[in-house]
Amino acid sequence: MDLTSVAPASSGTQDMGTAIHALAARLYPICRSITGQGVLDTIDILREHIDLDVHRVPSGTKVFDWIVPPEWIVRGASLRDANGQKILDFADHNLHVVNYSTPMKARMSLEELKPHLHTLPDQPHVIPYKTAYYTDAWGFCMRHDQLTTLEDGDYEVFIDTEKVPGHLSYAEHLHRGEVEDEVLLYAHICHPSLANDNCSGLALLACLAESMRSVATHFSYRFVFAPGTIGSLAWLQRNEAGLGRIRHGLVLSCVGDGGGPNYKRSRNGQTMIDRAAACVRCGADDVSPTLHDFIPYGYDERQFCSPGFDLPVGLLQRSAFGTFPQYHTSADDLDFIRPEHLGSSFRLVQDILQILETNWTPLNLSPKGEPQLGRYGLFSPMGGHKTNSDRVMAYLWVLNLADGAHSLLDISERSGMPFTEITAAAKALQTVGLVANLGFSRQ
Ligand code: ZN
Repeated sequence: MDLTSVAPASSGTQDMGTAIHALAARLYPICRSITGQGVLDTIDILREHIDLDVHRVPSGTKVFDWIVPPEWIVRGASLRDANGQKILDFADHNLHVVNYSTPMKARMSLEELKPHLHTLPDQPHVIPYKTAYYTDAWGFCMRHDQLTTLEDGDYEVFIDTEKVPGHLSYAEHLHRGEVEDEVLLYAHICHPSLANDNCSGLALLACLAESMRSVATHFSYRFVFAPGTIGSLAWLQRNEAGLGRIRHGLVLSCVGDGGGPNYKRSRNGQTMIDRAAACVRCGADDVSPTLHDFIPYGYDERQFCSPGFDLPVGLLQRSAFGTFPQYHTSADDLDFIRPEHLGSSFRLVQDILQILETNWTPLNLSPKGEPQLGRYGLFSPMGGHKTNSDRVMAYLWVLNLADGAHSLLDISERSGMPFTEITAAAKALQTVGLVANLGFSRQ
């Protein structure tokens, strides 16, 4: 088993990044919400890459303390000024309508209209993303610099939406491994035209699942694409009896920009996925993830890590949500996410999963004193090159901690060296007969 075999070289990572970007670009124009046709249209596109089981939960279904809302249908929306001129059109950008807006057809003065117009005065050139879930409200979102040009007069509001008894939909894909124990990989599917949050996560996970098709893994991998909060809760409720199978999990969002990476630990904070995420490096500059302790705010890891479940699920992002100016605005577009960043995020996820799959325990077969590495061709007498010295340090760490009680992940943590470097050193030491493989460690 080698998860990283599907894109080992930098050129492979770049190609994968291009493929993920192309898929994200197809998902981007769709107006998604927590229910409605946009989710189904998105699932149909993901289905071109992977098999998906679609689950539909009727409106009104009680999901723990929540109730699945009526399905939201949006056909269009516009705002016309006193001259009949269309000044906003849903067809131009789906962020122009407050997501889950109730229908409205009325003429009103600018003064009456203004409480329903949402802008970002600090970012006057972008359209904000606003939602009105679980409430009855209507509104438009627009550029602040356009708002300031509006003149007094009667405006014509037309929001052609409906809330009807329908369904919430989510989709899942299972990659069967050698055991039934599962790794849960989750992305939210409810945001409209926002590229990083979260077309990037949906596309990356679909491409990952597709790339794993012919790879034999130890764990089974469950990919879930569901609307934020109510979708993960519905999934948890329907799968509660089998949650004991989930050994590790990751929520993915905002994986297409060049920031970070950022990893938020599970509620437990000490699980193997938390430890693995700390031992990977990102991109050509080998950037370590910035690690954040769990807080009960964020994406769907909040539900997985609620005390009634307390699953070992972390959150992986490049730039953390809410910290970049494009977040929840029209500037989170297809130019903001780049193939090279999607490619390095893909590799990062692969590397984390590779640790879960391949963390073995080495035993030093020559533990009395340091072996003379030069005799095994593992030490250049002409040393001094940085790469060489990193590898030698990795040999020394592996040899010293290979007492049978430390896994490669333990050694990576203790040494502060990347897991990939420690693994490469351990494999080289095994090849020359200096260490033995005591088997995989699942702890
Ligand atoms: Zn969001």
